[in-house]
Amino acid sequence: MTDGIGLTGARILLKRLRNVMARGGPAQMRLDQTVKLIAGEMVAEVCSIYLLRAGEVLELFATEGLKKEAVHKTRLRVGEGLVGDIASHARPLALADAQHHPQFAYRPETGEEIYQSLMGVPILRAGRVIGVLVIQNRTRRQYSEEEIETLETVAMVLAELVASGELVSQDELRPGDGIALLPIRLDGITLCPGLARGVAVLHQPTLQLLNLVAEDPAREVERLTAALSEMHSSIDALLSAGDIAGHGEHFEVLETYRLFAQDQGWRNRMMEAVQSGLTAEAAVQKVQNDTRARMREVTDAYLRERLADLDDLANRLLRHLLGADVPSTRRLPDEAIVVARAMGPADLLDYDRTRLKGLVLEEGSQNAHVAIVARALDIPVLGRCQDLMQKVGDGDPLVIDGDNGTLFIRPSDDLLQAFTESMRQRLMKREAYEAIRDLPAVTTDGIKVDLLINAGLLMDVPQLAATGAAGIGLYRTEIPFMIAHEYPDVTRQTEIYSKVLDGAGDLPVIFRTLDIGSDKVLPYWKRDPEENPAMGWRAIRIALDRPAMLRQQLRAMMNAASGRKLSVMFPMVTEIAEFDSCRRLLDLELQRQARRNIPLPSEVRVGAMVEVPALLWQLPELLPRVDFLSVGSNDLQQFLFAADRDNPAAAGRYDTLAPAMLRALAEVARAASEAGKPLGLCGEMAGDPLAAMALLCLGYRALSMAPPRVLPMRATIRGLDFKGLRGYWQTVRHLDGPSLRSALLDYASDHKIPL
Ligand code: PEP
Ligand code: MG
Repeated sequence: MTDGIGLTGARILLKRLRNVMARGGPAQMRLDQTVKLIAGEMVAEVCSIYLLRAGEVLELFATEGLKKEAVHKTRLRVGEGLVGDIASHARPLALADAQHHPQFAYRPETGEEIYQSLMGVPILRAGRVIGVLVIQNRTRRQYSEEEIETLETVAMVLAELVASGELVSQDELRPGDGIALLPIRLDGITLCPGLARGVAVLHQPTLQLLNLVAEDPAREVERLTAALSEMHSSIDALLSAGDIAGHGEHFEVLETYRLFAQDQGWRNRMMEAVQSGLTAEAAVQKVQNDTRARMREVTDAYLRERLADLDDLANRLLRHLLGADVPSTRRLPDEAIVVARAMGPADLLDYDRTRLKGLVLEEGSQNAHVAIVARALDIPVLGRCQDLMQKVGDGDPLVIDGDNGTLFIRPSDDLLQAFTESMRQRLMKREAYEAIRDLPAVTTDGIKVDLLINAGLLMDVPQLAATGAAGIGLYRTEIPFMIAHEYPDVTRQTEIYSKVLDGAGDLPVIFRTLDIGSDKVLPYWKRDPEENPAMGWRAIRIALDRPAMLRQQLRAMMNAASGRKLSVMFPMVTEIAEFDSCRRLLDLELQRQARRNIPLPSEVRVGAMVEVPALLWQLPELLPRVDFLSVGSNDLQQFLFAADRDNPAAAGRYDTLAPAMLRALAEVARAASEAGKPLGLCGEMAGDPLAAMALLCLGYRALSMAPPRVLPMRATIRGLDFKGLRGYWQTVRHLDGPSLRSALLDYASDHKIPL
């Protein structure tokens, strides 16, 4: 048992360490002196440093206490033994009885069998493990939190020495996969579609911290205070820049970021680190390393995204401290693609927008703040590209195929040529689409189809004008809830819905009530995990169990639509009683508004989504109760085929043009037409040209799709002769086989229908 090193001891150790670092001489010599120093100051019999080498191997580089002949011989795989475990989890480990730990890997050449206790911390550089620093004691020793902290601080200083490239070459520090110069293809997910080519610009080459140990803590407090206040002003300036200011979700995201920057807890933690003897910049880095380590195990997507915001802030603050130029826009080559592990939203705005052609992230998700801002800037973005940072070098030529979620690193000339050609064709197609934007979506023989958009972000609304769509066929109200940092109250919701209605002008909008649950989680609403969330507590099941939530939402919609038309639909209706209950709540809200003399909407239309197969057998009872129906083909398909839409192994298995799906859709169309009720379809299949051809034949005349699909679909519809198509349909619709897709494809190519 020991009292630990204490604050004074830690300061002394840091000072001595600084002297060792400043002394110059070969890096190996300084490493040897360092282990000796640490062992002495921390009262340990052993201190060792393992560094990461190519091939994910940790090599013993220096030791005090273990046998010297083991240096540069003992090697452990990442994940192997306790040292490997520290590296693979990037977290400290302190064990009084290390020898009996299941992960303990005995290496006879080191002679470590006599040491019972072990404490180790990762050596981190730019959030990546580059080595492990370990101390060991012969007797059982309980290491204190303070000692772990001290060792972490020391590891930070060491990281700078390692990063100098003298011990392990820079190439090894950026481990490739042995094919570093060959073209590589990486698959990711599309966060914003589009194509781009350009030169890789690695985001945030890590700032070099030269001075880690403070001479005068009071002075460091002053520096930190000044840098924080400079940073706050520069963020204010950045966020008020003309092209990004204004309204929309991206603005809300940036406001949240501004709040993060003011966080008192963050400030306090950095001040404490300064008190322990670090310079202001080392304190910023230390706190960020701690945060990273704590959040490494976090799987919650929202929290992980916040980590990117915090990295962004920490780096920004470091740049202020180091006096490194903090330009309002970072200079870029003519065509640049920024590459980052993760990124906060403000960081993206630092780049010169005229040269920024795309963004690729190793992490990231649809709701990443940076992705939302990138969508506002309309640049292609890929996320979740595994090992991206290891595979891309600064200046590498890159190609982003945002439509297929693929990144090409150092593409071959052939690929580059093919890509340039497809960009050219795309441009031509785009121009052709633009030319028909304001023409009606009618077949050559006069059948009119309403092409509508699916929306969820305020920034989607301008797509109405850009695509010439006939309205919003599905407004997913849960999206603003998902990106907010707290539950939006009635006022906030009213604001959002008003803006949507204002933006749509005279065009119709169908608001869908909250469809949370399943894959749509609200970050601020902690719920127990469910085995099958898609079939669990979601959508109106939650709404009916928490009627106040639904009533508030309906109230906000009524406020927003007062004096205008309001269309509301309920998702995941499974039985008639559910629809009746939702409608009753809506009526109660209407009465409440009337009692309070709030002007009511000029008309209220209430619809149900057909997403659960059970509803197919209740249509005669449902139809008289609704003003319209909308088929949610994504969910209908997943439940009809019992195939999880989010599971790649099951999702692509069954076709929307399979006979079972088409028969279900035909039945809905027949029943709706018999009841004289308007019918639309708003799942992904609405945007698929071959599916749209089938839907036309089944009687669907309103298709709501992702905005980029509207213009191509207009071209498809305008190329169709409906009578001819229906004639063909009658001959093929009973064909045996898993799908009618190829039959429709034949028709489209025979009749030169633009797809
Ligand atoms: C659907 O299920 O088809 C639908 C449009 O709703 P969501 O994709 O939002 O579940
Ligand atoms: Mg759905």
